[in-house]
Amino acid sequence: MQNITILGSTGSIGMSTLDVLARHPERYSVYALSAHSRVEQLAEQCSQFKPKLAIVGTAAAQQLSNLLRAKNLRTEVAYGEAALCEAASADACDVVMAAIVGAAGLAPSLAAARAGKKILLANKEALVMSGQLFIDAINKSGSLLLPIDSEHNAIFQCLPHGYQRQPAAVGVEKILLTASGGPFLHRAVETLGAVTPAQAIAHPNWVMGRKISVDSATMMNKGLEVIEAHWLFGASASQIDVVIHPQSVIHSMVSYIDGSVLAQLGNPDMRTPIANALAYPERIASGVSPLDLTVIGQLQFTRPDLLRFPCLKLAYDALLAGGSAAAILNAANEVAVQAFLDEKIGFRMIDQLIARTMDTLPLCAVTDIDGLLDQDRLARQTVQSLIS
Ligand code: NAD
Ligand code: MG
Repeated sequence: MQNITILGSTGSIGMSTLDVLARHPERYSVYALSAHSRVEQLAEQCSQFKPKLAIVGTAAAQQLSNLLRAKNLRTEVAYGEAALCEAASADACDVVMAAIVGAAGLAPSLAAARAGKKILLANKEALVMSGQLFIDAINKSGSLLLPIDSEHNAIFQCLPHGYQRQPAAVGVEKILLTASGGPFLHRAVETLGAVTPAQAIAHPNWVMGRKISVDSATMMNKGLEVIEAHWLFGASASQIDVVIHPQSVIHSMVSYIDGSVLAQLGNPDMRTPIANALAYPERIASGVSPLDLTVIGQLQFTRPDLLRFPCLKLAYDALLAGGSAAAILNAANEVAVQAFLDEKIGFRMIDQLIARTMDTLPLCAVTDIDGLLDQDRLARQTVQSLIS
């Protein structure tokens, strides 16, 4: 029996994780669940999965305690970042699903890495911003880091067993990250300034949280994934290519020096990578229906247009620049996307604000978490001042 902490259990990835766990009660039990504000949903999850611990934002703790008492549940309630870190590193927890969105997930994900847990990483922003610091923590503790992002999980499946972040050592020539192109792949570029948040989060193939949905519309999501692939697989920027594949059936590919290209295919449903990582190296049922290629008929591929998707270029620039650049890119993006969702700025302002923030802030080396958090704060302040 494996005990699992799900950080962000009320989100899209959190709910898909619980859906897979519910299919295998003989293999998994839930140690802790966490949510930011959706307290009633969290209380419902506690009644179904009976975790030892439930963690919420500070403002919601009393409400959660009342709801759990009314349900006669013995789940303990805790709140705030320190409680998230404890739940992610507790002795009683074997596996951590890191599914909080954004930089808010860094501290608990890092706590899990330092404690040597098996980490299922959906929270790409945590790895993008902390990069080598995160990988160092994993290496030091001997933690097993398994990717949940569908592309990285696909790449993981296409790499040899026991792969050690050295592409050349196993004959890998390139990583081919597939991207759907999002809702605006074919929209006239000059009309992008006028798109609404509702249009931006209407993804053609995937149902996801609001932030990652906007990231998919700008293709910053793919940019963050390029940086994520760099840290997970040890590939340089020139070894990672992005390929637009609107059907989202091939989740990514690995190209080898002998001309072989390995791909992982499946219906676009996050329960597949979640089940893959949960059971690795075994396989378990996920609830995802089998892929019928005759229904899909055609798979298409094109190169991304960097004028339509400037965020993708900004992410490559940040990866090449190194140091604090990726943390600045990530923080600027988080603030700009939230401002767009709050209808304070237009869609095209997102890439402009990130570019201006990256131009404004001097690059520096990132050698510890405090220094990293300073850069994150500085970038957030810079974008805010550019907005107001
Ligand atoms: P979501 O918005 O649906 O859920 C986010 C979860 O994080 C919620 O449970 C929320 O309560 C919690 N949360 C939000 N802010 C918080 C804070 N400040 N402190 C503590 N908890 C907080 O997001 P999602 O789509 O499930 O995405 C989660 C992560 O997984 C993101 O990093 C995203 O990039 C990544 N991811 C998601 C998908 C997908 O299909 N949804 C695919 C690949 C990767
Ligand atoms: Mg992805």
